[in-house]
Amino acid sequence: MSGEYDTGSGAISVERRSPEAVFGLLGDESRLRILQALGETPDEPVPFAELHRRSEVADSGRFNYHLGKLRGTFVRRTDDGYELTYAGRQVIGAMYAGVYTANATVDAIPVEEGCPACGGDLVAEYAAETARVDCTACDAFRNDFAFPPGSLDQFDRTELPLAFDRWMNHVIGGVIDGFCYTCAGRMSGRLVVDEPDGKMGGLPAHAEFECDRCGSTATTSGAAPMMHHPAVAGFLYDHGFESGRTPTWELGEVGLPRGELLAESPPRMAVRLEHGDERVTATLEADASVSSVERTSA
Ligand SMILES: [Zn+2]
Ligand SMILES: [Zn+2]
Repeated sequence: MSGEYDTGSGAISVERRSPEAVFGLLGDESRLRILQALGETPDEPVPFAELHRRSEVADSGRFNYHLGKLRGTFVRRTDDGYELTYAGRQVIGAMYAGVYTANATVDAIPVEEGCPACGGDLVAEYAAETARVDCTACDAFRNDFAFPPGSLDQFDRTELPLAFDRWMNHVIGGVIDGFCYTCAGRMSGRLVVDEPDGKMGGLPAHAEFECDRCGSTATTSGAAPMMHHPAVAGFLYDHGFESGRTPTWELGEVGLPRGELLAESPPRMAVRLEHGDERVTATLEADASVSSVERTSA
């Protein structure tokens, strides 16, 4: 399969292979050893003889044959030797992430700070490849999201709540920028108006994102697109909250976002943060994008 797209001044040409053909290539131990050998130094091309030695495939004819099979898909040849392609790196990344192998759980870890909405106790947990950071006392602070099992042992138990929170912010940031967290395809967003008794984070609407290609979805608070806007990040920073670094549960010190619908169908929503007499207000459109941000002080 292949495709050419006319972009006006030039073409983007993409050659596509079937998943069966591509993944079929990985069903061989020697080939996986070659990929792992390249993954030992992911940013340096490896000369042929060195790659042969590292991958420990005894017979040089067999080594040559399997390397040839990987070329063009998972491995590329350069003037300085062989290196992983993007897809080859993804295979190595998946091995580390434990996507295909790990089965992990983490017992509930109390979070030192309280819920930003009600002051109740927060706990972090992990099971079925899903991380959770929830308030035990109210429904306003609930977060669950996929977290790679292979990353759990990169952190001490006490570091995990913050690691979960950062990962969630990292993934949501990518989603809001329009990239799917599963396949890097394009994501489209929409605002969804909630019933009065089902408000997420106390806002009248939440945001949903869906990948146009693989169908992965993400649901976020209606405040998330606003929180990732640079003007809002600046407001937060001026009041001691570093977006993506300060844990989400410390947002209460700035003040929780409040919002109101500007229109029902298609939905538009205004979301604001206040600190003292300063205020920042963002307008969210039906596609969950931020169309304007206004910062005022009395
Ligand atoms: Zn709470
Ligand atoms: Zn996708």
